[in-house]
Amino acid sequence: MRFKKDPFLVNRSPFGIEVLVIYTGGTMGMGIGSTTSKDEVLVPRDFSRLSEAVPELLRLSANITLIATDTPLDSSNVKPSDWIDLAKLIGESTDRYDGYVVLHGTDTTAYTASGLSFLLEGLDKPVVFTGAQLPLESVRTDARENLITAIMIAADIHNSEACAPEVSIYFDGHLYRANRARKTHSAYFDAFVSYNYPLLAEAGIRIDYHHANIRKPGKTKFKFYDKLEENISIVRFYPGIKESVFEALTSDPDMKGLILETFGMGNAPTDPWLEPALRQLVARGVVVLNVSQCPGGTVVQGRYQTSKHLKSSGVIGGGDMTTEAALAKMMFVLGNDPFKSDPAKYLQMDLRGELTEEER
Ligand code: ASP
Repeated sequence: MRFKKDPFLVNRSPFGIEVLVIYTGGTMGMGIGSTTSKDEVLVPRDFSRLSEAVPELLRLSANITLIATDTPLDSSNVKPSDWIDLAKLIGESTDRYDGYVVLHGTDTTAYTASGLSFLLEGLDKPVVFTGAQLPLESVRTDARENLITAIMIAADIHNSEACAPEVSIYFDGHLYRANRARKTHSAYFDAFVSYNYPLLAEAGIRIDYHHANIRKPGKTKFKFYDKLEENISIVRFYPGIKESVFEALTSDPDMKGLILETFGMGNAPTDPWLEPALRQLVARGVVVLNVSQCPGGTVVQGRYQTSKHLKSSGVIGGGDMTTEAALAKMMFVLGNDPFKSDPAKYLQMDLRGELTEEER
């Protein structure tokens, strides 16, 4: 992801709070058009005339600067290397900005935002991801409210402290912890859910912060990471999965980590081929992590007989992490010191609020 050379000021305000809005693409800035066919498909567009599209921005109490990517992306095309580019852009500009808003396609927001939550350590500023289900140019768009409120949250500072100093997702009146949220609806405006962690804030006629749910910046000095281990695979179990399929899905010799999406509390078939296959992977040095297909609740390996073989093969329980957070965390943990020296320890440790440790 390359950013345009010149960020530009969208709004100047007398209050001195600085917000950087980063436009990466997604439906919010899309329009009808295609260079390859006559179909009416939605494609990402240049977004430089933001304040003309949303004149309300000129009334906000923050200096708003916009930076856009060279090529706006549908989020299906956002890669982990783009997460690193975003982390760099944010990490290298924290002396200039009080808060950040990342405009991103909703399809993979939960992955990118989870990735950022790990790459930005000791964060004491809001990084609010948002997007839209309908383009800004559409009459019934949800983009306007999402954009304005996300900027207000990023700019909200009380007694010199940010109200929501963590990586979050704002969507349709709800502020979610990024690494707890998932996109669960492809068409409703209320597109995200966080089953295992309560809301950080709700926006109605006021923005009500649920302060007890928001991470307090710790003593760790801010630092950003620029490495991720991308050789991670995900296998989702399904009734009747065959040995040959499992083998094919896990045969990549470069694979460093494997996420198993299991049933219920972390259960999988007890077919005789599975345990030796997992043992072999673990012996090969592959780190195997177990998360549930259920959007809510937690993995407890060993509670049922159908997860004992996973535990005894060296599979690590992923607790109540979402698949999105688990993927981002594994890429982070296996890619960076000191975490990669003891992946089992760090994968089971709550690093950024992504995991409820005592429920594991
Ligand atoms: N396909 C779009 C994207 O993720 C959907 C959206 O933005 O809502 O980029």
